[in-house]
Amino acid sequence: MQVSSTFDSGNIEVLAADDPSDVRLRIRPDPPTDTPDGVKRFAQWFHFRIDGVRDVALTLRLVDMERTAYLDGWPGYRAAVSTDRISWTRADTAFDGHTLTITVTPDADVLWVAYFAPYDLTRVADLVGWAAQQPGVASRPVGTTLDGRQVDRLVIGDPDRDVPVVWVIARQHPGESMASWWMEGFLHRLLDTHDALSATLRDKATLHVVPHINPDGSFRGHLRTNASGANLNREWAEPTLERSPEVWHTRAAMDASGVDLCLDVHGDEALPYTFIAGAEGIPGYTAHQADLLERFLAAYVRANPDFQTTHGYPKDPPGGANLSMCTAAVAKRFDCLSMTLEMPFKDNADRPDAVHGWSPARCLRMGATALHPMVAVVDRLRT
Ligand SMILES: [Zn+2]
Repeated sequence: MQVSSTFDSGNIEVLAADDPSDVRLRIRPDPPTDTPDGVKRFAQWFHFRIDGVRDVALTLRLVDMERTAYLDGWPGYRAAVSTDRISWTRADTAFDGHTLTITVTPDADVLWVAYFAPYDLTRVADLVGWAAQQPGVASRPVGTTLDGRQVDRLVIGDPDRDVPVVWVIARQHPGESMASWWMEGFLHRLLDTHDALSATLRDKATLHVVPHINPDGSFRGHLRTNASGANLNREWAEPTLERSPEVWHTRAAMDASGVDLCLDVHGDEALPYTFIAGAEGIPGYTAHQADLLERFLAAYVRANPDFQTTHGYPKDPPGGANLSMCTAAVAKRFDCLSMTLEMPFKDNADRPDAVHGWSPARCLRMGATALHPMVAVVDRLRT
């Protein structure tokens, strides 16, 4: 039996892997790792493979979990497992406050285990390549990361037309791979030339889509940060080329295009629901912004009941927004509709799936159905 995580988005430290009934593992935190003992770190994402395990009853113990970033993420959570990296199901998982114990008996000789079904950079490249083959789509990367990767951006529609501009961003937090599955569903429908809803949105708006804003972080197996250890969704007030070039370049591209609607796609560790957080707490939040948000939320609920508005984050009080976060910073800078979409790591508690939990398939459909709320508000974005 052998445990390995040296691959795209791999993350685990092996403490003991001699006894299949007591494999001891630990999540490797994001940089900086030199935080004092007892201080919580950005650790939550894990992704590894085990070889030589056909019909072996495995008990995998992830230890020191009290030092992970979101303790509320573990009760009710079940680990994602796959023997082919295509079909991901959930394994029996228990949490005692310190150790996350995963029990599984694979029916194949290699097992992959992850916090959520991964979405690696090869698949991102496949998606971008496919999209760039479609009519009316231009590939215009916004810039380069610290590790030298491109931050892809797809421009859909003629950017010189005087129509509303929609920005959609995913993977600021690299451990939130559900955002990529959402993005795949969104782009496949948006670029479907037989879909009249897509055609309507593309007639009425230009779209700038950043499928993966933090490729360095996801390749390195990080939860929240880029190569320098910066949490990109806390960099929007003052991004720098040295620390957060992904945000610096994206914001510069937004300044060039303008923004009328921004949707930033994430995953939430604790809440078993899909929901949106708005920009209510920014200084000068307008009735127009509030009206657009209300219409967007109502249309998304109608389009896909996996989306809901009962559960979510508490709304920021007036003036209480964190302007270092994308949603608030963009809402303030461009006086526009700006939102954070959160999908669960666990499941949708209103419609649980015993086999898959919250799954890539559900994310794909959340992405595809996001066209409905966009069309519902597009005519009002500039009024
Ligand atoms: Zn996030």
